[in-house]
This record gives sequence, structure tokens and C-alpha cells, in this order.
Amino acid sequence: MTVPIKVETLSYTYNPGTPLARTALDDVNLEIGDGEFIGLIGATGSGKSTLIQHFNGLLKPTRGRVLVDGVDIWQKDVRLKDIRTKVGLVFQYPEHQLFEETVFADIAFGPRNMGLGDDEINARVRRALELVGLDFEAVKGRSPFELSGGEMRRVAIAGVLAMEPSVLVLDEPVSGLDPRGRDELLEELARLHRRSECTVILVSHSMEDVARLAKRLVVMHKGKVVADGPVREVFRMTDLLKEVGLGVPQVTEVMHELARRGKDVRTDVLTVEEAKAELLRLLRGEGRVR
Ligand code: ADP
Ligand code: MG
Repeated sequence: MTVPIKVETLSYTYNPGTPLARTALDDVNLEIGDGEFIGLIGATGSGKSTLIQHFNGLLKPTRGRVLVDGVDIWQKDVRLKDIRTKVGLVFQYPEHQLFEETVFADIAFGPRNMGLGDDEINARVRRALELVGLDFEAVKGRSPFELSGGEMRRVAIAGVLAMEPSVLVLDEPVSGLDPRGRDELLEELARLHRRSECTVILVSHSMEDVARLAKRLVVMHKGKVVADGPVREVFRMTDLLKEVGLGVPQVTEVMHELARRGKDVRTDVLTVEEAKAELLRLLRGEGRVR
């Protein structure tokens, strides 16, 4: 397995040596494998945004190393521009960074900076828009600012996708969207991962959002990684999750409560559909399928 991103004993302090010094990352070790879909979760202030800004060299470690495709990105001969093409980072509220007059120009900005030709740029803008579920012909000539909030966000994400990164990192991509916009965008992200085989790191403070999509969860608390494993395994760590200020999804909570009351049910369900199947089985008095 190739490892697009590896973080070794990474620590980071904001404003070092001043009264405002603040250690945001404390000895983080992490390996992200090719094609994984990872949920990076933690309460506000746990260090998620600080960590992912190390993945493409926006922040420089105070201590430790960050390797992209096996290469220490702070080695002298590495061009951070190349790293940023490989590791695409979608900031929180990315639509605040839209600035061109048309959707096309905005999405074309990255590819143009990469020195690509017009035909290639055109093809990439088209593909990127399709990946985020927007119609090229319908939106290419429009001003990004006359689109809905959800559409603006998609355009901003398309701008990163157009650089065709092998790793896509999204910082709280659904925050501020209404429930429908949120579900739609999460579904697009799942589809994108299936179709593009790109490695996806989804940052969120909501277990509900990541549970449906990610296979592996990395949990952060006070600048440290406190849990890292398959989603269902992490979901069983209810005490730890409560301690770090993360609840489990309501359906999971319901199943835990039933188990506490002596019902023989699975406690690792993640979705309403799974809970429904489990409850029907219970009502029919059938045995557990493992
Ligand atoms: P998260 O993304 O999980 O909410 P952050 O990485 O933004 O967490 O923040 C981690 C810690 O670093 C917090 O204590 C936060 O207050 C602090 N921090 C974040 N950005 C800055 C900054 N620009 N200057 C000083 N401290 C910061
Ligand atoms: Mg953040």
C-alpha cells in the first residue's frame, strides 16, 4: 500500500515564545493510505484544522515531519506548489474565497496556474463541475455570487477538484448548509470517492456526518489523536467519545440504550436503515445475524 500522507511526531505551536503561545498539535502520528476515506473528527479547538494545514505545507511543523508520497515536504528541493497540486485542501466556508466573475473562471484559476492549456482547462472545469453535481452549460457563465449557498460551495470545491489532487481534504464541508444541502453534498462526496479513487479526508465535528461515509475515523482531542480505527470500532468507544465532547449518532445511542436494558441488539449500527433492520429482527424474535 502506498502512503500519500504520513505524519511523524508532529507538534505545532501558534505564536511560539510569546504570551499568546498555544500548542495546537502535540506529538501526532498518522498514516493515510491510498484511496482511503477517513473521517477526522474532534470537538472545536481539538486541532483538526491545524493538522490538515500541515498536509500541504500551509503550516510548518514546530517539531516532527510531514511526508507526502514518502518525501519530507520541508526538504530543500521540494516545491510546495507541487505538493499543493497533489493534496487539495478545501477550507471551511470555501465560498468566501470565490472571487472571479464567472464560475468557469473561478474553477479554471487553479489549472491555469498549473500552466495547463485551454483544452485541458476546459475539460477539467467540465469534469470538476460534473463531480460536484452541477451542469457545466447551465452554470459556467454565471457569476458565482448569484448562486445559492450550496451551489457556491460546490463551485468552490470544484475549484480544488480541477487541480485533480490525489488527496482531497475537506474542512467541515457541510457546516452552515441546511439539512437537505448537507445530505446532497455528503452524497456527492461519497460518489466522488467511488468514482475518482482519490483519497478523501473529511473533517467534521459531527459523528452523524462522517459515520455514513468514512471507513476509518481519526479522533482528535486537545491536539492529540486519541482514537484511530474502523468506524464501527470507534463508535463502540462511547465513554471516550463522550469525554472528548463527541456524541454518537442518535440511532446508535438508541441501540446502546436497548442493550443496557437487556435487549440482544447490535450496538454498532450507524444508520437509520441498519437500526430499522435490527429492530424488526428483535420484534420478530429472530436471532442475531453476525
Ligand atoms: P479545530 O479545527 O479542531 O477546531 P484548530 O486547529 O482550529 O481546531 O485549533 C486548535 C487550537 O489552536 C485551538 O486551541 C485554537 O484556539 C488554536 N488556534 C487555531 N488557530 C490559531 C491561530 N491562528 N492563532 C493562535 N491560536 C490558534
Ligand atoms: Mg477547524
